[in-house]
Amino acid sequence: MTTELMRCDNCAKMNRVPTAASGLPRCGSCHVALAWIAAANDDTYDDVVATSAIPVLVDLWAPWCGPCRSVSPVLEKLAHQFAGRVKLVKIDVDQSPAASRRFEVQGIPTLLVLERGEVLARQVGAAGEQALRAWLEQALPTAAASDSSENREAPSDNLREH
Ligand SMILES: [Zn+2]
Repeated sequence: MTTELMRCDNCAKMNRVPTAASGLPRCGSCHVALAWIAAANDDTYDDVVATSAIPVLVDLWAPWCGPCRSVSPVLEKLAHQFAGRVKLVKIDVDQSPAASRRFEVQGIPTLLVLERGEVLARQVGAAGEQALRAWLEQALPTAAASDSSENREAPSDNLREH
């Protein structure tokens, strides 16, 4: 099985993270969810993407694509910010013709949010960090979202006694 080294954002310990796992990778030291970043191609697609326990942010890219290279560090940053909620999987389209056909990729980068193989959202072309964070936040299922209700409603008028 392939593993990648990932530093824990919480305690800075280095962890070995498998590219495919049935559960969620957690830090061996402090047990918080680790950012999960993996690569896949047509051979490993089923293991790495299709069977993922959490939604997958797929980055369909190629090494010769300039906009892909600019969006790549943004996606990695988001993988850390959304650790435990999304798995980032990079797919090199040149090595993955079947995946390119499956998602009818017309241009790259093409970004997809998948949940159990179902496309929840699609973004074609590079975008800035803010835009991509908002896009991802909206695409991800909200069930597990933390309850930090900061609804800024106007304060209600005090009831007055007459
Ligand atoms: Zn840790």
